[in-house]
Amino acid sequence: MTGVASLHGFIADAAERAGAHQRPRVSFEFFPPKTDKLEEILWESIRKLEPLAPNFVSVTYGAGGSTRDRTHRTVARIAAETSLKPAAHITCVDATRAEIDAVLAAYWAAGVRHIVALRGDPPGGAGAAYAPHPDGYAYAADLVAGARAVAPFEISVAIYPDRHPDSADWASEIDNFKRKLDAGASRGVSNFFVDAESFLRLRDRVAGAGISAAIVAGIMPVTNFTGFKKMAAAGKVSVPNWFARLFDGLDDDPETRRLVAAAASAELCARLSAEGVEDFHFYTLNRADLTLAICRVLGLSAAAGAQA
Ligand SMILES: Cc1cc2nc3c(=O)[nH]c(=O)nc-3n(C[C@H](O)[C@H](O)[C@H](O)COP(=O)(O)OP(=O)(O)OC[C@H]3O[C@@H](n4cnc5c(N)ncnc54)[C@H](O)[C@@H]3O)c2cc1C
Repeated sequence: MTGVASLHGFIADAAERAGAHQRPRVSFEFFPPKTDKLEEILWESIRKLEPLAPNFVSVTYGAGGSTRDRTHRTVARIAAETSLKPAAHITCVDATRAEIDAVLAAYWAAGVRHIVALRGDPPGGAGAAYAPHPDGYAYAADLVAGARAVAPFEISVAIYPDRHPDSADWASEIDNFKRKLDAGASRGVSNFFVDAESFLRLRDRVAGAGISAAIVAGIMPVTNFTGFKKMAAAGKVSVPNWFARLFDGLDDDPETRRLVAAAASAELCARLSAEGVEDFHFYTLNRADLTLAICRVLGLSAAAGAQA
């Protein structure tokens, strides 16, 4: 079956599944805005995506805690002013355990019950050598255990369909995921990936290790292919040539690029869904349009969200 034929079949099936209240679970990731204008765009996007009734929405934490206050403000506002369940990201980089515990306690006091616990990237960026803070949590598994001691948070952690660059092999990648679950995490949220096979093989590896926790497929629709390629290179995410060709020559044509990006992500979600994947996490980059379009293809709409 061609990709187009399978996408067509998928859209029809998705509409039926939505009618039968069998919706995929989605979550949305945002980053804390730097300016008033960007804050306005973020809140427009949150309001547009809210009716889809996501499982949760998460807010990232800038390298080394650089967005600590802005992350806190954004999650606290989501908790206070929307029907959404916010999840606050937090990292180990450049902070003592006491500092991190204080941030976690402040999240809990603001009504935040879900965190995404991460090691974080070194100050030199993804790919630079990592050294734990001498008084800090060394790795995400240590942070999960520490957070559990602060409050009974629901905890999500990261997992990598193309393997984390610091993992020597797949056995250490899966062992690390298991350590994070054993320390108290309840789900893995995947890094973005291009090839559905990467995620499906990861799912097999996780199941093969006897792990039953959910892994959520991280979907990054392409807004700017140059930025996408840079992020992929830093995280050693594989970008096949056929995918790069889709965006060839579209650097100055954002409208066509957006249509291509929506089609490519919808096709990826269709392929995953056909393989039984039911949880999708969208890296929205604070824009609603692409995520909204892809969610509709997945069978979600405001009405379906409200009925569920
Ligand atoms: C869903 C998602 C959300 C993210 N959000 C953010 C964010 O908000 N802010 C941000 O700065 N970054 C974020 N990141 C990026 C993340 O911080 C980086 O990918 C980071 O390099 C690894 O974080 P981790 O939690 O996966 O680390 P870990 O799970 O700690 O693993 C990192 C590496 O260390 C290895 N390792 C683990 N334990 C040990 C040990 N004891 N000894 C030696 N090696 C070990 C692992 O095998 C792995 O290769 C996010 C990533 C994802 C997938």
